[in-house]
Amino acid sequence: MTGIRDGVMSVLGKRQDLRFVVIGAGMAGILAGIKLLQAGYRNVTLYEKADRIGGTWRENTYPGLTCDVPSHSYTYSFEPNPDWTRYLPPGAEIQAYFERTTRKYGVDKIIRFNEEIIRCEYQQRQWHLETRSGIRDIADVVVAATGVLHVPRYPAIDGMESFSGDLFHTARWDHSVPLDGRRIGVIGTGSTGVQIVSALSERMQKLVHFQRTPQWIMPVENPFFSEEQKQAFRDDPELLKYMQNEPEYLANVERFNNAIVEPDSPAMHEIEAIVRDNLENSVDDPVLREKLRPNYRAACKRLIYSPDFYQAVQRPAVEVETGAIDRIEPKGVRMKDGTLHELDIIALATGFQADQFMRPMNVTGRGGVELNDVWAARPRAYMAISIPEFPNLFMLNGPNGPVGNFSLIDIAEHQWHYIEQLIALIDSGKYGEVSASKEALEVFDSERIAAAKRTIFGSGCQSWYLDAEGVPATWPWSQQRFYEAMSQPDYTAYQLVALAEATADSAVSDT
Ligand code: NAP
Repeated sequence: MTGIRDGVMSVLGKRQDLRFVVIGAGMAGILAGIKLLQAGYRNVTLYEKADRIGGTWRENTYPGLTCDVPSHSYTYSFEPNPDWTRYLPPGAEIQAYFERTTRKYGVDKIIRFNEEIIRCEYQQRQWHLETRSGIRDIADVVVAATGVLHVPRYPAIDGMESFSGDLFHTARWDHSVPLDGRRIGVIGTGSTGVQIVSALSERMQKLVHFQRTPQWIMPVENPFFSEEQKQAFRDDPELLKYMQNEPEYLANVERFNNAIVEPDSPAMHEIEAIVRDNLENSVDDPVLREKLRPNYRAACKRLIYSPDFYQAVQRPAVEVETGAIDRIEPKGVRMKDGTLHELDIIALATGFQADQFMRPMNVTGRGGVELNDVWAARPRAYMAISIPEFPNLFMLNGPNGPVGNFSLIDIAEHQWHYIEQLIALIDSGKYGEVSASKEALEVFDSERIAAAKRTIFGSGCQSWYLDAEGVPATWPWSQQRFYEAMSQPDYTAYQLVALAEATADSAVSDT
């Protein structure tokens, strides 16, 4: 099968007429735009539902928003940034980085803003797309870069609409609402809730953190880079490259990844000891300490990195409420035991529907197959990239990819390297349709599920990693295996329809 590869790799960018649509102008969509333009394609459009690029970093603007991947690792490999202000990048700086990079590589010129793709249908060897405003487009290749966590999950709590103060989801933060000196309730203790509580604990008159399930907290330092350091990064490209691939961080990522897939490894026991010590040594009050102690294993839920959460919850204005919420009333949150927490603001840090991916868009594949039917039980894709019967549609950060405490940029870049080899098959003019075979997906998925159940994510806790059947919907193998898998497609796993054949089929269906 290397013959296939050898025959096509030299022609990338040859078919200038090939038309690409990329859906979503977040981190992954911008990457796809850059790479397609660099490969010489000129017929590329990115559709973005909002009026700005940025994806998750546009939508999340809550106080304390920070990425827990080190700044220099949270960059495109080809676009280092000497100007990060801190070890962990604040959300607004990440947004500015993507805006700058989008302009630098000319991707801003190929984006259509305020155009949400609502329909994507494969007919006569091409994808027919339609936006909410009624624009229609046709593409040979579609890259879905719609993100994983983009549909907010609202909790089913009675009386939310009756609240007389301000209530919003954290991904829809209302910045017109004043905060200082007021009373806020934060519902949810994921990465988002923890960051908000840490950021607001000194600003509020009262902060109630509603905690249904406690979290293990990994301590991390978040120092500022000095002006001298930033100047050194500007002056020395090698130093900047070193920072992007900082050996200690990469070794930690590898160790963490191995621990996830081997829950009984010494590495995982080491992680457990660190977070346990963090709790024991950081929280003085034994009652509060027990409230904050999880009864599941570290990293079963996505591990939270925080320099200051335990300090924040010990501040006088902060109360950790572990009782069950009964309902929301005009004045605040009523607990099942009758207690009323009177509040001015309620922030719902209740996470996202993690099984949506390119939905709610209606996607129809070859022969009228509906994505909603194919994904009725749970989203699945071969190698997280390709779905049988959905030819020439490739996903970045699609279902069952490596999610975890790692840089999704690095993951998307490896996925792109793989996707561009599939695009090369189409570009060669030899193949009209490229999609994973059903058999390959079945084998991949059954191996993946068996391995996923053995990871720490499947060790007995509730989290957004779990699919509707309670199976971790993640890449369950090592990082090394992911890199190897992404280095070159196994073409035998693909149904490759010769261009002539595909064209003949579409001619038949035309008549
Ligand atoms: P999340 O991890 O899904 O957490 C949602 C929280 O809301 C959980 O504590 C959950 O409790 C709680 N919750 C949900 N429904 C509730 C209800 N009806 N009543 C009470 N509590 C309820 O969501 P997230 O914090 O937004 O984070 C999602 C992901 O976004 C993260 O895991 C991470 O991948 C990403 N993120 C990353 C960063 C970063 O620094 N890189 C920052 C923020 C977010 P249970 O645990 O009991 O279900």
